[in-house]
Amino acid sequence: MSRPEMPRTRAEWQQRAADLTAGEGLETRAFINDVFVDAASGETFESTNPATGEVLARVASCDGADADVAVSHARAAFDGGDWSRLAPGKRKKVLLRLADLMEAHKAELALLDTLDMGKPISSSLGDMSGAIACFRYQAECIDKLYGEVAPTGEETLALVLREPLGVVASIVPWNFPLMMTAWKVAPALAAGNSVILKPSEKSPLSALRLAALAKEAGLPRGVFQVLPGFGHTVGKALALSMGVDCLAFTGSTGVGKQLMQYAGESNLKRLYLECGGKSPNLVFADCKDLDRVARHAAEAIFHNQGEVCIAGSRLLVENAIREAFIDKVVAAAESMQPGDPLDPESFMGAMVDETQHRRVLEFIRRGQDEGARLRAGGEATVVDGKGLFIPPTVFDGVTPEMAIGREEIFGPVLAVFGFDTEEEAVRLANDSVYGLAAGLWSQDIDRIMRVTRRLASGQVFVNNWAGGDQTMPFGGVKQSGNGRDKSHHSLEEYSDLKSVWMSLAT
Ligand code: NAD
Repeated sequence: MSRPEMPRTRAEWQQRAADLTAGEGLETRAFINDVFVDAASGETFESTNPATGEVLARVASCDGADADVAVSHARAAFDGGDWSRLAPGKRKKVLLRLADLMEAHKAELALLDTLDMGKPISSSLGDMSGAIACFRYQAECIDKLYGEVAPTGEETLALVLREPLGVVASIVPWNFPLMMTAWKVAPALAAGNSVILKPSEKSPLSALRLAALAKEAGLPRGVFQVLPGFGHTVGKALALSMGVDCLAFTGSTGVGKQLMQYAGESNLKRLYLECGGKSPNLVFADCKDLDRVARHAAEAIFHNQGEVCIAGSRLLVENAIREAFIDKVVAAAESMQPGDPLDPESFMGAMVDETQHRRVLEFIRRGQDEGARLRAGGEATVVDGKGLFIPPTVFDGVTPEMAIGREEIFGPVLAVFGFDTEEEAVRLANDSVYGLAAGLWSQDIDRIMRVTRRLASGQVFVNNWAGGDQTMPFGGVKQSGNGRDKSHHSLEEYSDLKSVWMSLAT
């Protein structure tokens, strides 16, 4: 498979972007039953580059009519069995081929996410590696999952079989467009389901490119379909559909709650939710290298412009080191200024759109009004005279009552709290409706084990932030959701157990 050379410099990425978006370069139509088609209504919406304001494309705006058509094709494909009943080892080969195609088109896929939502190209390339690894891992898992033979008397053979669910709808957000897609779609396909993907209206382009690659890899007709469009139209239609067996969602807690209602109002479809967070990062005074910890604490919030579900947005620092430590965090933050997303040196890019830009600035204003101490950032900025950028912003003296200390901002805003005792640190950390991630920095192994067990969180990072690979499940507790992406556990979510009790004695 030939691989186009990977651009290295800002100028080379700019040239590749210009080539990609020139003429009819971008696929913007829905992918239904193996072909690209306009939305039934003919409606489209704009996809805009938030770093420049440039309109990239007009994309098909699907609605309930398209959802109905896609669901009926998905069901027909599932019942037909070309994929659902294919031997797992054969499904594996197709998915590995898809991963190879993604690898061959890595620069293009990364570029689509960067142009669509403003994240730095280096970050998008990292996402692509994660997305490809996810397809490979799930493909490799599927022919190694065994059913069970239950322990019965010899007059019976009792089998526990694993079967695909049927039609799975995946609704995903815009912050890691293709990686979040992979976390949902790869295990659902590997398990033998028909999958309908609804990408975010803010980042639909890479999903449409993935559809073309999936077809090239040999996924049968109707097994993977992509419906771009808005949540309140096509997303809602999928969530209310009587023909969808499972809805796998990543997005905000508010929309997650709405989807639970839709599932209850329709067919009690299985629902997996990966929702928001306000993750605490606990720094104890016994840490050896505070410069290193401060750098990681800054990266934990400012990576991807703070548009990360597990952003370490609440920094809890033991008061004995707080002043000195905040100075180090501020210094690290100031070295992470936003830059052109097409520059491989940029650590932060643009906010995804005007709504998000405005929302983050509003939180910053509320932080100041509520009496928190602004230590860095705080004002919108531009890069090369344009774009929706916000620099790393640090508030000290935050309390749990303040909006910036409680609500998910989803932007580059760090809220710093102080604590005196381990007990107080755990209480502050768990004082949130969310429970997605938590970090803990200490050299004391007894403390590490005590605190880790007491943190109400789907994942805990000890002396790192956001560590993990495909072998680790990813998900939250409390209002951060109930599903688990990645690892072989996600395959279990997309399959059902069938109990077979066979009487042998006649
Ligand atoms: P969002 O909830 O606004 O949208 C997510 C998706 O849901 C989009 O595709 C959107 O079109 C769709 N949607 C919106 N309303 C809908 C409705 N009524 N019916 C059906 N679909 C609907 O979230 P967002 O702004 O795209 O993403 C940011 C949120 O995602 C943050 O809260 C973040 O924490 C969360 N997130 C969570 C994880 C995780 O793994 N837990 C990962 C990434 C992002």
